[in-house]
Amino acid sequence: MTIPSPGKQASVGSRTGITATGLMTVGWVLLQTLMPLPPALAQAETEELTYGQFLQRIEQGQVESVALDEARGIAYVTLDGAAADAPPQQVALFAGERNAELIRRLRANDVDVEIRDSSGSGALAWLATNSLLALILIFGLLMLLRRSASGAGNAMSFGKSKARFQMEAKTGVVFDDVAGIEEAKEELQEVVTFLKSPEKFTAIGARIPKGVLLIGQPGTGKTLLAKAIAGEAGVPFFSISGSEFVEMFVGVGASRVRDLFRKAKESAPCIVFIDEIDAVGRQRGAGIGGGNDEREQTLNQLLTEMDGFEGNSGIIVIAATNRVDVLDLALLRPGRFDRQVVVDLPTYKGRLSILEVHARNKKMESGISLEAVARRTPGFSGAELANLLNEAAILTARRRKEAMGMVEIEDAIDRITIGLSLTPLLDSSRKRMTAYHEIGHALLTTLLTHSDELNKVTIIPRSGGIEGFTQSLPNEDIIDSGLYTRNWLVDRITVALGGFAAEAEVFGDDETSTGASGDIQQVSNLARQMVTLYGMSELGPVALESMDNQVFLGRNLMPRNEVSEEMASKIDAQVRGIALTCLNRARTLLREHRVLMDHLVDVLLERETVDGEEFREIVRQYTQIPEKFLAKVG
Ligand code: ADP
Ligand code: ZN
Repeated sequence: MTIPSPGKQASVGSRTGITATGLMTVGWVLLQTLMPLPPALAQAETEELTYGQFLQRIEQGQVESVALDEARGIAYVTLDGAAADAPPQQVALFAGERNAELIRRLRANDVDVEIRDSSGSGALAWLATNSLLALILIFGLLMLLRRSASGAGNAMSFGKSKARFQMEAKTGVVFDDVAGIEEAKEELQEVVTFLKSPEKFTAIGARIPKGVLLIGQPGTGKTLLAKAIAGEAGVPFFSISGSEFVEMFVGVGASRVRDLFRKAKESAPCIVFIDEIDAVGRQRGAGIGGGNDEREQTLNQLLTEMDGFEGNSGIIVIAATNRVDVLDLALLRPGRFDRQVVVDLPTYKGRLSILEVHARNKKMESGISLEAVARRTPGFSGAELANLLNEAAILTARRRKEAMGMVEIEDAIDRITIGLSLTPLLDSSRKRMTAYHEIGHALLTTLLTHSDELNKVTIIPRSGGIEGFTQSLPNEDIIDSGLYTRNWLVDRITVALGGFAAEAEVFGDDETSTGASGDIQQVSNLARQMVTLYGMSELGPVALESMDNQVFLGRNLMPRNEVSEEMASKIDAQVRGIALTCLNRARTLLREHRVLMDHLVDVLLERETVDGEEFREIVRQYTQIPEKFLAKVG
């Protein structure tokens, strides 16, 4: 996963080189074998007469017949008494009018004269071979150009612009295949009715919407939803991605839009789906380096097309984006994409029903609980859930099991969220340090009142340089509501610092490792948000930063500098204060539970993975654990 694109590029590049040279070589070989040698060379063994000798023979009456090839300037001379199968002798003639003189002499001496017109056959053969050569060269050159063009951004493919959108006569997708986004589905149900029986709306003078904008993160099912509308209404589905409009040549995108709508009009009623519309529909004139002519032309063409067809022409344009904030306002005007439907990441219930949809065609053990899977996967999009079950199915097949079990699903979750598991490290001081680091996280997770429930802690390394991890089960109420309390945030920061704190307590400040850098990044982000967004510091409930100041390619070219320098340093001091308080808290707690921590490290080193219930049971034997976790002791 890490190297492919440069590696692939390189290999394609070198293969292009070989193919091109190979092609040229083949061309040359063909040339060598196919090009007939000129007759002069072909008959090189025959004796040659000079012109003078030839004239002499004529005068002496020794010439029986002569064939004149005027075009080539050669006379083929058959002498008297020559063997019947002997080739004629050749004489190079002078060009032009002197041949008339020669013919007169031949006639005078009773020689048979035959005039051959080689400009017919011979020249034709030459022409043929030469054009063959030319064709081969042109072909080779074209291949070369095409190859290099496809590497260099499709310079040559503009000729094929028509092939750039897809058309499905029947998508085969129905609303039942789309789960977990009920509100969006309900809103779009109406569009199906528009397509099926427009007269219901036009009869009472209602204007049918031309465009629907689906807004949501990648993988939330926007494409699926659009296909389901087409499927339910039984109309064709045209689709194109906005990024495909952005081409090297100005005008190509616009002509593609025209093509697309021409075809769509022929097939109305139908759905036209434009994925990633923000690629063309970004606000005009925004972005670094000024406007992009090509994009603007494409966008203008799109607007023209949408204005051009009547409301009841039966074409409904559905566009998808996750960046509605950067879209050109012209797109959102009435008569264009005036309907906007938000497609959110699924909640617990949504995830459950998406899992149910994708479990339909999978063999699963009877004891499997999709509820548990849905609980374990907050923040997963529909696409990620579909991918999760697919990964689990692959694991099941690899393990030669009949049906997918909970183990496979758990493993697939870790694989997707953390990385491929690698073989455990051999015992070493590094492994010991990793164990302390992870136990630091895990122990604090279990001791703190507001933290989430520990699911497992492991020191089996994963791809991407991960030496171990501590996993807790997210609290679905919090995740789904998106509301975090100050207590939760502070405990979260303390847990995140647990690894660093354990290293420092056990090995000393000088021995802390860079392995905690990810944790520290997380701590800084959370602490800063507490100060600048949530008003959870001494600076009070003031929003010191807007939520979207990261948007710098769209409307907000530059993040607005909203705070004075003085305030900025106050913010820094507050952030630092939160982090240091939490670190102190983490270190104190771990110091107080040092014996327990050492024991847990021994257990983890021996078993490499300890699950939450077992972990809590060990902790409970040494100390008190928060009540909410008591019920979840193994
Ligand atoms: P988007 O267009 O929003 O990026 P897609 O529609 O392409 O997402 O989703 C990709 C795949 O993920 C779908 O083909 C489907 O298998 C699965 N998927 C996504 N959302 C859902 C959903 N709400 N219900 C069922 N499957 C979904
Ligand atoms: Zn850590």
